Amino acid sequence: MKLKTLAAASTAWLAALALLTASGFALSATYMTREVTCLFNIVREVRSITQLEVHLLSHERESARVALTHLPEHVGARDAARRELSRWLEDAREQPVTAESASVFEEAERELERYLATHTQEHRKAGADTGASHDEVDRTFAALERLLATRLVEARIARQRVDEVHRLSEIVSLGAAGMLLAGVLLALWQLRRCVYRPLLSIRAAIDRYGAGSHDARAPQGGLDELREIAVAFNEMAAALAEQRKRQLGILASVAHDLRNPLAALKLTVDGLRPDRPLPHEERLRSMLTRIGKEAARCDRMLTDLMDIARIEGGELELRRETRDARELARDVVELYRPTATAHELGLSLPDEPVPLCCDPIRIEQVLNNLVANAIKYSPAGGAVQVTVARVGAEVSIAVSDRGVGIAADDQRRLFERYFRAPSSSGVAPGVGLGLWAALRIAEAHGGRIEVTSTAGRGSTFTLRLPS
Ligand code: ADP
Repeated sequence: MKLKTLAAASTAWLAALALLTASGFALSATYMTREVTCLFNIVREVRSITQLEVHLLSHERESARVALTHLPEHVGARDAARRELSRWLEDAREQPVTAESASVFEEAERELERYLATHTQEHRKAGADTGASHDEVDRTFAALERLLATRLVEARIARQRVDEVHRLSEIVSLGAAGMLLAGVLLALWQLRRCVYRPLLSIRAAIDRYGAGSHDARAPQGGLDELREIAVAFNEMAAALAEQRKRQLGILASVAHDLRNPLAALKLTVDGLRPDRPLPHEERLRSMLTRIGKEAARCDRMLTDLMDIARIEGGELELRRETRDARELARDVVELYRPTATAHELGLSLPDEPVPLCCDPIRIEQVLNNLVANAIKYSPAGGAVQVTVARVGAEVSIAVSDRGVGIAADDQRRLFERYFRAPSSSGVAPGVGLGLWAALRIAEAHGGRIEVTSTAGRGSTFTLRLPS
């Protein structure tokens, strides 16, 4: 899983939970508001009904007093009670009624209107109020009581609904809190499993590697990005281990290669010990020549190594001068002629000078490598031919042999560092750096090295340089 996917999934999951919770709360709040408004309306109507009952009784009482005493204060009180009755009836009419209570309300309203109308007619006819009949008052009162009872039942139902919604919203909020908590815990667990732990193990592997444990590798788990980091670290550690192995191999190979000229030097110098008589002049000269040659071989090997270090560090410096390419080729062939007795070293040069602007020491180093390889990888002897030619604006120096040759697949990798073709690596010692360094030198001159080879039949390496 990718880090982006994990983050997106966690965010979406938490956002969905939050949205669900918020919608639940909004819904229950709307429902509660509706029910509370309904309750409020019922309470107002209950108040109107009780006021109607109070003023109905008060009107009856004052009407009875007027009938008995005809006192003006009772007349005033009765009229006031009647006005109150009309006012509270109006108030009750303004309250919204439910479908269930509509008919009960209409009946109570009808009874009240009839009561008021009878009372007013009586009042006008007699000039004094004798009051409505007891039956009429009882009917009106009973209708009001029924209305009151209906509204109270409705109020109780509304209250029950509010309680239910309250309970439901409690459950919803507890459930939402639980789900949110579970979501957060799940996200934390995923973070720990897919991010934190793999990160810790990568860090531990880096620490172990830094402390010198070169076989330390990071476990490749967790998110894709962390797995890629672990894979990159492991590849880097493996490449470093491989490089280290090769460097140790180079050291061993250099030590081995240095041992031969040093052994020859030791043997020759042994012949010149002070306790022995000096050999004849001719023999002495030949011994000194050998010492010089072996010392030059050691020097060349060490120079090659230093060159490789310089090329690796990007410090290859060319000291250009114009030289005849024929001379360079001749010098190299002559250098190998005395030692390569099993091989037939041939040199093909044009008649005219071939001027070449180059660093002669470096170009000799390249040619040395090509000729040394041609000899090295022709174990049965045979011809090694060096050919100098001018091709257009280029100078070409080709070195051909009839040796072991190189398989087509391996030819592509010849100039890679440390590469050794399996077909020839058992034939002669080497570390696979000569051609790599030779190509770098050729490229620094603006040139290249081309190879043609047939396995088992021989190879031709051609150095091409701009003149
Ligand atoms: P080294 O000879 O030290 O191994 P080089 O870089 O000079 O390193 O050569 C790389 C590889 O190319 C050699 O190991 C060998 O396999 C192959 N090679 C180079 N020159 C020849 C040749 N003339 N004939 C056959 N194989 C060659």
